Amino acid sequence: MIVSQQKPWEEILGYLDGEDGIFILGCNGCAQASGSGGPTQVAEMQQKLEGAGKEVTGTMVIDFLCQKALVKSRLRARTEQVAAADSILVMTCGLGVQAVAASVNKVCHPSCDTVNMGGSRGEWPSDERCMECGECLLEYTGGICPLTACTKSLTNGACGGAREGKCELDPEKDCGWELIYQRLKQKDQLGQLRKFIPPKSWDKMMPNPKTMSTALWALEKTG
Ligand code: SF4
Ligand code: SF4
Repeated sequence: MIVSQQKPWEEILGYLDGEDGIFILGCNGCAQASGSGGPTQVAEMQQKLEGAGKEVTGTMVIDFLCQKALVKSRLRARTEQVAAADSILVMTCGLGVQAVAASVNKVCHPSCDTVNMGGSRGEWPSDERCMECGECLLEYTGGICPLTACTKSLTNGACGGAREGKCELDPEKDCGWELIYQRLKQKDQLGQLRKFIPPKSWDKMMPNPKTMSTALWALEKTG
């Protein structure tokens, strides 16, 4: 199970600056169990966004947002609501946000941080990986994790060593930052590359006290 917790409200609202219509996507898997992106949190988020003057064009909760085929097929029924939105607010872990951003040609904002499980890493038999860094950066990278897609885990752009799109440290691997550049270009978000991402606070990898006091957390730690 991938444990996630909601980002601060001010941070989420900042992501949506200049946007009016938002489609909210929740996850009935780990995010529902974490209390960060299930039906209850999606309904609460809709209320808060509408209270902040945003138009919520639609909401949907899908069983596993980390499954791209499932995301694509379920969202087909909401094509008009998604098209009417400026962006999608994705309420789930880093894997789910990456999968949605890869599946839908729309700006996708992460509303959660994925936190560490004490050594395990969020993995899925697809391409996406999450290091559970506790301070999700997918907002700035078009939904591609810079920590796992870049061999050096660089957070502020390419190292300059890539050759023909391949990483200088692993010629078998695509350069993560070239993938990020292409994704941002595809979503008309190249301006994100001008934002400096400050050094990460790795202590955020650990869950907040509220999450650590839950029975779910106790079960995960003893499992
Ligand atoms: S930035 Fe990467 S490692 Fe950190 S929470 Fe997001 S997807 Fe996971
Ligand atoms: S070549 Fe690309 S993926 Fe490899 S370390 Fe440099 S920026 Fe990261």
